[in-house]
Amino acid sequence: MIPLTWVKRYQELGFVVHPCCPPTHRCQSPGKIPYDPYERRHMEGWQNHPQFTLEKWAEWLDLEPEINIGFLTGSPSKIVAVDIDNAAGEEMFRGLVSEEDRRTWQFRTGKGSRFLYRVDEGGVRSARLTSGDAAIEALGDGRQSVLPPSIHPSGTQYAWIEPLTPRHCEVHGAPAVLMLPQADITSERPDWEAAAQAPTHEGSRNETLTRLAGHLLAPASVPPDEVFIWLKLYSAAHCKPPLSDPEIKMIVRSIQNRQERADVQAELETRRLMKEHNLKWTDAEMMRRGMCG
Ligand SMILES: [Zn+2]
Repeated sequence: MIPLTWVKRYQELGFVVHPCCPPTHRCQSPGKIPYDPYERRHMEGWQNHPQFTLEKWAEWLDLEPEINIGFLTGSPSKIVAVDIDNAAGEEMFRGLVSEEDRRTWQFRTGKGSRFLYRVDEGGVRSARLTSGDAAIEALGDGRQSVLPPSIHPSGTQYAWIEPLTPRHCEVHGAPAVLMLPQADITSERPDWEAAAQAPTHEGSRNETLTRLAGHLLAPASVPPDEVFIWLKLYSAAHCKPPLSDPEIKMIVRSIQNRQERADVQAELETRRLMKEHNLKWTDAEMMRRGMCG
């Protein structure tokens, strides 16, 4: 049974923790999936769960003493967990991260080990690095990880490796090699509905359409031809006087170029890492179909 004192200590250390299903749970990944002991089923919407109170934890442990414990990796806990499953993965990790950088919190899992690193800012992308048989997975935003003293379905207990425990040492900052280049995400969201109803006069026509093109092209879901048509319609309805077709095309093209440059930069950085370390990056999106924890 998970001692309540451990739950409390994890929370004090900043881990945003949740129950995971019992190791005997009948599911694809027993013991590893966020779990709701009241409902006796996997937790819904666990990616955004709050820090649960200790009172709730006490009730849960009473209801179902066999639950495991896990935490939200990435931004919520400001911790990225690096999962290493076999000897080949360990060797790759040793090649990537210096001995000093490997002196961080570390625990044994069912098959291998997990290193924890502090991350301070922004989002933390999850990623998987593979090379031959070796694989390392960085669990960041949108993921979670089981914590000691949970029980693996094989019967092994997850256990901190002394002296690399929160009691004996500090958590190390994440080494640069683990951090994937972040996509350039703008959080600014102008009110397009209001903007679409207001007339746009000669002085600000270009600026408004440039912003609209950026908005439409940003998720890369609307093809440039369609963006052109939207801008043309917008311009005809709201710009006084409307912009010409070549002017609109130029706006679309310039935003597209700007976004392609950002994509190319991310791609170059990935290739540099691949070449330097003889690795293959696979995105977390691919991994999510696999497993959590
Ligand atoms: Zn389960």
